[in-house]
Amino acid sequence: MLRARHVSSKVALIPRVASGNSRRHGAHLIQSIRVRRLFESPATTTTHKILGPGLLHTHSYTTMAATSTDDIVEKLATLSIKPTSKLSHTETTSPGSWKEALIASGSAPKSFELIKTLVYKPKTAKTAIPIPVVVIAREETETNSGAIGKKLNLKELRLASEDLLTEFFSLNKDSLSPLSVNDSTFSRIVTVLDSSIATSSATFAVHANSSKETLFLSGKDIESYIKKLETSDLKVQEIDFSTLATATAPTTVAATPAAAAPTAASIPSQAPVQIAIGVKKEEDFPTWYTNVLLKADMMDYYNVSGCYILKPWSYSIWEEIQAWFNTQIKELGVQNSYFPMFVAASVLEREKNHVEGFSPEVAWVTKAGSSDLEEPIAIRPTSETAMYPYYAKWIRSHRDLPLKLNQWNSVVRWEFKHPQPFLRTREFLWQEGHTAFLTKPEADAEVRQILDLYRQVYEDLLAVPVIPGIKTEKEKFAGGLYTTTIEGFIPTTGRGIQAGTSHCLGQNFSRPEMFNIFVEDPNDSSKSYVWQNSWGLSTRTIGVMVMVHGDNQGLVLPPRVASIQAIIVPCGITARTTEEQRQKINDACEELAKTLKKAGIRAKPDLREGYTPGYKFNDWEQKGVPVRLEIGPNDLAKQQTLAVRRDTGVKSPLPLENITESVDTLLKTIQADMFKCAKEEYDSRIIEVTKWDDVVPALDNKCIVAMPWCDVEACEDDIKERSGRAADQDERAPSAGAKSLCIPFDHSRFPAIEPGKTKCTACGKDAKHWTLFGRSY
Ligand SMILES: [Zn+2]
Repeated sequence: MLRARHVSSKVALIPRVASGNSRRHGAHLIQSIRVRRLFESPATTTTHKILGPGLLHTHSYTTMAATSTDDIVEKLATLSIKPTSKLSHTETTSPGSWKEALIASGSAPKSFELIKTLVYKPKTAKTAIPIPVVVIAREETETNSGAIGKKLNLKELRLASEDLLTEFFSLNKDSLSPLSVNDSTFSRIVTVLDSSIATSSATFAVHANSSKETLFLSGKDIESYIKKLETSDLKVQEIDFSTLATATAPTTVAATPAAAAPTAASIPSQAPVQIAIGVKKEEDFPTWYTNVLLKADMMDYYNVSGCYILKPWSYSIWEEIQAWFNTQIKELGVQNSYFPMFVAASVLEREKNHVEGFSPEVAWVTKAGSSDLEEPIAIRPTSETAMYPYYAKWIRSHRDLPLKLNQWNSVVRWEFKHPQPFLRTREFLWQEGHTAFLTKPEADAEVRQILDLYRQVYEDLLAVPVIPGIKTEKEKFAGGLYTTTIEGFIPTTGRGIQAGTSHCLGQNFSRPEMFNIFVEDPNDSSKSYVWQNSWGLSTRTIGVMVMVHGDNQGLVLPPRVASIQAIIVPCGITARTTEEQRQKINDACEELAKTLKKAGIRAKPDLREGYTPGYKFNDWEQKGVPVRLEIGPNDLAKQQTLAVRRDTGVKSPLPLENITESVDTLLKTIQADMFKCAKEEYDSRIIEVTKWDDVVPALDNKCIVAMPWCDVEACEDDIKERSGRAADQDERAPSAGAKSLCIPFDHSRFPAIEPGKTKCTACGKDAKHWTLFGRSY
């Protein structure tokens, strides 16, 4: 059932089929089988011609048979290296999930850093065997492949393909570690070691040649392990990446570690300091994303996998959204209420399509204390079935309609896909509105009204552009009549993201065999089953905002949702500044904050002692505060403050006279500019495609496609299948196929569909609508 993937004609791998441990999700099963196969592949001997620096010779080697963690520990012991601890954990596929798995295990050291092991392939003649460059560095070290290549005099370093990793290490990228470099591989690769590892006092996590096993080692031990592989001809390349960055990229300033203790306030106030987010957004997006969230103090990991803590810096954004949205829905006559989180099994399972859509993710309470419950109780994945028995009870006559309730709550969906803070978590916060009407037109109208409020949350509050439209039959809400959606876009990955949905449930839930929600006509006592809607918007909003606006300095907050809109930092205080002058500057900062706050601007003075202005600039930049206002002795003399925009870095002095108006204007400008910038980006990435051959190249170009489409579900399945297969050949490219995102309501940007003439891009049948397809979250 499992075919061996041909990794190389020269290396034979004998596949092993995993037994037992079968999981519901196919993707998971395949992944775990593959990993097992890689570890358990027996040693194979093969002969390669290796093109060494300047010489061609024949080299015979043995592919390392994968070894268990205990074997590795034993091997380390022979080198007098003893790991401080070892851990087994859930499989990890990114630095974020690795860190999370370690913390969730509850037995990781109190503080530790991750080690990344990157494999690059230099440009090599086609006939030559490549010599991979293995870079072992701290997770936070910025490893620029261009700079490494320059230093080693190698051309065009590119991240190596999975096939190359398999060929050299019999491991995948998530299992590689410094320990993958060993007696049998060292002579065939160039080994680069981040010199700051050996000098650090940190404890480092390294995989024990498995993405499910971790050893904790000191930096000295890692260095000593690698150095012991050296021979008289072949040495480890130790590189100080902090100087490498400065030497090769004169425009960037050397990084100051974020954790560095602030020194006395004698550093010149304008000293540019760059606290890198660790990795660049465009180079390693998943790591960049979690680093931004951590450094901006928005979230923390939690000891239950797939769950995260929302810290005040992100929760306050949710509060802004709540406040605005509450006002709007109350205007529409919606009332807030609260239903319990538990749902009886019998009720949950009443609507068949609905439960089929959710059942794999439902979490159940089966025990109370040590005794089993007679009937397990579900934790709501959404509340339709919890609420509607009571709608049936409460709705008796026309006078009870419309019924419009909303609740702010959390729901639980026990997903097995890779979790990502805010985007896919096992518990998340949202609001869910549930309304009932006498007629379909009333329900239809509300669906669109709510969707437009969601659009406004994204576009007006978060400065994130979205496209409103309708979901296809395949993608609509389970058990509903139709689903409207706003679709967002993450430019860095080229993926679409469902940003909020408003469903018309029709009469599917009110029918007599379902929840039997009806009113009687007073004239002829005939029954009218109610028309229902449900609609939800979650904390995913925050994740999308971070991904769209964040940059390599960290978070960038749109002013409307920033809990601090303007941070005021005293500057120009040196060792020679008198106490009196210092006080005067601090007072001016406090005074300015007071003035702005009175005008409704969320301002705060940062008067922390013992921190340099440079440190403070960075701190607030990472946290994304829209405007920084600096006040130094010169500013004070001129009665002005220097305003610095977070989104563009543009500086402009503002007179203290009329300061509330000018700051207010500046904040509004930033809000508008951020939206405009993101909107232009989104628009430029929607590619109109009328020939199938252009679909996959557009997707690979990080775009989404708009195509005339036939509205047929089988065609949609086919599009997913064909676009996925084609992408699989790409090195490291996300191989997911394209899903339909939505049929946009606004067709004005597209050429008209001519009935009988315009054909579906995918199947050639008559097209019905322009439809957006893309890889998605
Ligand atoms: Zn078609």
